[in-house]
This record gives sequence, C-alpha cells and structure tokens, in this order.
Amino acid sequence: MSSPVRVRFAPSPSGYLHIGGVRTALYSWLWARKHGGTFVLRIEDTDAERSTQESVDVILDSMRWLGLDWDEGPDVGGPNGPYRQSERLDVYKEYAEKLIASGHAYRCYATKEEIQAARDAHAATGTKDGFVFESPWRERTDGDPSEPHSVRFKTPREGSTTFVDQIRGPIEVAHETIQDFILLRNTGLPLYNFGCVVDDVTMGITLVARGDDHIINTTPQVLIYEALGAPVPDFAHLPMVLGPDGKRFSKRHGAVSVTEYRDLGYLPDAVLNYLARLGWGHGDQEVFTRAELVEHFDWAHCGKQAGKYDPKKFLFVQAEHLRMQPDATLAALAQPFLAARGLDVAADDARVLAAMPYIKPRSTLIPDLAENLDYFVRDVPEQDEKAAKKFLKPDAAPHLRALAELAQQAQPFDQATLDAAVTAWLETEGLAMKNVAQPARVALSGRSASPGLFEVMEVLGREVSVRRLLAAAEQAAQAESAGAGA
Ligand code: GLU
Repeated sequence: MSSPVRVRFAPSPSGYLHIGGVRTALYSWLWARKHGGTFVLRIEDTDAERSTQESVDVILDSMRWLGLDWDEGPDVGGPNGPYRQSERLDVYKEYAEKLIASGHAYRCYATKEEIQAARDAHAATGTKDGFVFESPWRERTDGDPSEPHSVRFKTPREGSTTFVDQIRGPIEVAHETIQDFILLRNTGLPLYNFGCVVDDVTMGITLVARGDDHIINTTPQVLIYEALGAPVPDFAHLPMVLGPDGKRFSKRHGAVSVTEYRDLGYLPDAVLNYLARLGWGHGDQEVFTRAELVEHFDWAHCGKQAGKYDPKKFLFVQAEHLRMQPDATLAALAQPFLAARGLDVAADDARVLAAMPYIKPRSTLIPDLAENLDYFVRDVPEQDEKAAKKFLKPDAAPHLRALAELAQQAQPFDQATLDAAVTAWLETEGLAMKNVAQPARVALSGRSASPGLFEVMEVLGREVSVRRLLAAAEQAAQAESAGAGA
C-alpha cells in the first residue's frame, strides 16, 4: 500500500442506523485500524427534506455505542472539514467551476418543461431504450451564468470506463449508457455522485466501501475523478444483507436499527462480530474479539454472495461474547436492567459480582443477567407459583429446617463445607440429594432452576440462606394445613 489508508463512512441522516450500514462502516473501520489509517465520518445531508438532526444524533450515538470511533468527522473535527455536506456548498461550487473551466462540465439552462417535453417525445417513439436527456447546452457557451442553471457533466460519448472492484473484480460500463448527469442543481445543491466525489477527493479517501446498490454510481464517479485529474480510489461494493427468506433484510425479519440491539441487551462486540461474519470469513472461526477482527479482516475474504441474517447464530455469538466479559463489566451493564426490575443496586454490588460467574454461563442477553440476578439481590425472592406448589409440600418442611440448621453451623460458610455437611446429613438420613434439592432451590431462589445450590447459598451468605430456608419450611408446613382444610 503506497499511501496511508484513509477510509470513510458517509451515511445519509434520514432515519436510524441500519445494521447493513453498520457492516459497511465496520469493514472500513477495520481496514483503517488494521493499517494504522484514518477513519472519516461524513454526514451526507444535502437532501434537506429527508435529513434530520435527530437522525444525525442517532447515527453518532449508534457509532459511539458500537465503539466505531472516527478520527475525523462531526464533533471531533479534522483538517478536511466541515464533515457535513450541507456546510460544504462552496467547495462543490468551486469544483464545479473547475470542471466547467476545463471543459468537463457545462452550465445547462434547460427548464423542467423542456426536459419533460424531451421525455414525452422519447416515450412517443415507442422505443424500449431508456431516456437519455441530450442537453442543447452541451456545446453552447452563450448562456448567462446569472440566470438559473444546473451544471452537467459532459460525459464522453464514446468508449467505456472500467474500475476494479475489490470484491467483484473488473466492472466495465459503456459511456453511451450514461447521460450528461447533473453535478449541481440550480439551487447550488450537489447531486450525490458529485458531492461524494468532491468530498472523497478533498478528504483524501483511498478506498470507498459501500453497499452494492451504489455500483451503478461508481462509473460516473470514476469519470468525475478522471476529469478532476484526481487519483481514483479503490472500491469495495458489499452485497446487501438478506433476511432468511432471501429478501433484503428489513423490519419483517427482525431488529434493523443499532439502537434496538442496544436496548435488547446485545453487546457491541457481539453485534460487530456477527456483522463481520455476514459477508466475510476467516476459516471456520465464528467468534472474534475486536482485536482479532482488526488483525484478520481483508477485502479478499469478503464474499460476493449476500449474507443471510440468522437470529439464532446472532444469539450464539452474543452468548459467547457475554462469557468473555469481565464480571465487573457485566455487573455495570446489568445495573440499569436491574433498576428496571425495581432493584436498586450499585454497579459494583458484592452480591452481583459474586453471583456473576454462576449466572454468566446461563445468560445470553444483558437482561438475562438481570433476570438471573434477581433473587440474589431482592429481599424476598419472587416465587414461581407452580414451583412453590410442586416442591414446598409438608414433607419438605423438616428437610428445609435441617438444611437451615446445617447452614447455621457450617464453618466456614462456603460451598465445600456446605457440600460436605449436607452429603453427610443425607447419608445419615438415608435421603438422596434429589429429595431435598428442588425444595431448597425454590426456598433460596423462588424458582425451579438456578445455579448449584451451594453456589447460590455461598453468594447469598449464611444469614439470608438460613432466613429463606426457614421461611420456606414454614410455607411448606402450612401447605399441609391448607391441604387438610380443603
Ligand atoms: N450517503 C450515501 C448512502 O448512505 C453514501 C454512499 C457512499 O458511501 O458513497 O448510501
């Protein structure tokens, strides 16, 4: 690679950040980070009707949450700003003038009505060929620049242009299929192809990655680079993300916006890992840390085939990433979800930290952590009615009392001591673990499924364990009188 890598992500702020867009941003970001290059974020907001500040905020928030940090762009600035197209209109004007002066573009004074009349005349011929507007101003220089006009590119009439796509290989398009496209409207606003190229040139972009819906735009863009005498960057056009039914991934298939994944409790690294694999591979490896993605990513291993969204695989990747996180990180992430359950605990609550190693393997999304932590931090565990009814029966009461007694006496109060004491007691009583395990589980957690009993007890501590076992013994005993009275 001769020049330093400079890549960009150029979203149009007309909604949320779609996960397909994130994949484009991710690949560029990985490429920049892999080569110690620069990742530029540019907001393409010249469509005033569709662009909103709210959408810009959502895009920036989503990028921050994902940890796709930009070296130049909104908020952080940089030497090639401004980074919003709506603030760069003078740059587009300057470049349009350059192209007019060099004979690569011209002022077109054709009115809407004239263009419509040409379109109608074309339709009247009954031809199946697409309409190509032939502006009478292509060769005229007698217009008055103070009159409203657009600026059109003077597309060569003959020959063709070829560019080599990093993913698809060479793509050749004949010039005769490209009309004299508009660079600047009479309002001074650039059309996408022109704004994009002027920005990519002035921002020194060396590789342009985007969705393959833009392939059709790339030939006109290459023509503009050449007319400006600017080096043509590399291009990588990524296939669309598809839903399981093979149609373009949309709301019908699942969550599409980054913020939805955040709110569902996915980890940013899991989202990036999953998206990276949708269209790129490194042998059979499925789970990648961010550092591994940076190390291994390359365009050569991006597929031509669109990746299909697979929610199960996404959850698998998420679960793997959850397991890779330090307990303290997960405790902090779980905190807001605990708060939403009415459990006001500190991000470094000792019970949460102590329980984390046991609930981590049983959780996938962050709210699962909160769900699995609930009874560890709630004063009185919420009881699953069915489980209580099934297991807190009169004959369980003496077992629960005996367990409370053993817990009261265990010295020290840890898993090994509890295990040894309970095992010895079961043997003396001629009981099996299965006779007491489920009632004890319901007593301690309110549920019929939990981590190991002694693990739960150690985390809860002596006092809470004893209190819960005795309360459940009482409840079990009373189940008898209720039963008898019925
Ligand atoms: N604003 C365009 C889009 O969001 C950018 C395309 C490109 O990266 O050139 O589709």
